[in-house]
Amino acid sequence: RAKEDGRNQTCFYSAEYEQRLVERTRAERELRDALQESRLEVHYQAMYDASQRHVVGAEALVRLRSRDGQLVPPLTFIPLAEETGLIVPIGEYVLRKACLAAGKWCKQWPNFRISVNISAVQFAEPSLLKTVQAALDEGGLSPQQLELEITENTLMANVGAARELMQRFRALGIRLSIDDFGTGYSSLTYLRSFPAQTLKLDQAFVRGHLDDQGDLAIVRTIISLGQALGMELVAEGVETNDQASNLAGMGCQTLQGYLFSRPVPEGEFPG
Ligand code: C2E
Ligand code: MG
Ligand code: MG
Ligand code: MG
Repeated sequence: RAKEDGRNQTCFYSAEYEQRLVERTRAERELRDALQESRLEVHYQAMYDASQRHVVGAEALVRLRSRDGQLVPPLTFIPLAEETGLIVPIGEYVLRKACLAAGKWCKQWPNFRISVNISAVQFAEPSLLKTVQAALDEGGLSPQQLELEITENTLMANVGAARELMQRFRALGIRLSIDDFGTGYSSLTYLRSFPAQTLKLDQAFVRGHLDDQGDLAIVRTIISLGQALGMELVAEGVETNDQASNLAGMGCQTLQGYLFSRPVPEGEFPG
């Protein structure tokens, strides 16, 4: 009896495992096909100067267009892209597209910068520096018009290597931004040692900070910390006028969110 139960259990788990494997293989195939068939799209969300409310830059955000025309958001395929290494060619594609698009916008808005998200896997690739340089050349951008967004958690995964690579990007004049700040676990000492110019306040704080005293205290602290370190503060996920004026009042120079613009295809920018 016990033996039978045990066997059944094994069958149950292996069937579930097999199903997961099939699904994963299908998802990976779909991701490869999308890359090959140019069904990856880069959308752009404008960033605004908090006091003048003019465009200062854009964040490039990747999407997948399924065969039936649906737009698939990045959080559903980026983790798989990271596991399979496909994030490297995907990331290169986004960098090149974004630099080409930004060429026009740099002529339209003074001091315009294009921000591109770099995943931990890309950040660990020795080829990243060359890829970035090639994308800049191709788009005719100067290095200070490109900003790489790296999450706090990516930086903390290997502090020494991260700092070293950041220094190499800085030596080229490329801007660096610490994304989703406040959600990770970095200490102030580390933050100080990273040569980044921008601190991006995670939208979880932006959304909650009006109602929650604890969040408000954290937001104030992050902003004054950034200011003390001479960094530009960007708030992402700004959806209401109250949030915008409060963040501006607390010293946030740059705002990004649905209140101003949603991520849009290149031709519709700034949306
Ligand atoms: P992220 O870099 O923190 O990007 C900001 C996300 O917040 C975007 O979601 C954006 O559409 C969303 N957002 C902006 N304003 C608002 C707002 O007012 N309200 C709300 N609710 N959301 C807002 P998206 O495009 O779905 O991207 C999600 C994440 O996927 C990004 O977070 C980033 O971590 C990753 N990602 C996107 N594109 C790329 C890429 O090309 N490479 C890599 N490695 N990661 C990417
Ligand atoms: Mg980002
Ligand atoms: Mg972010
Ligand atoms: Mg985020």
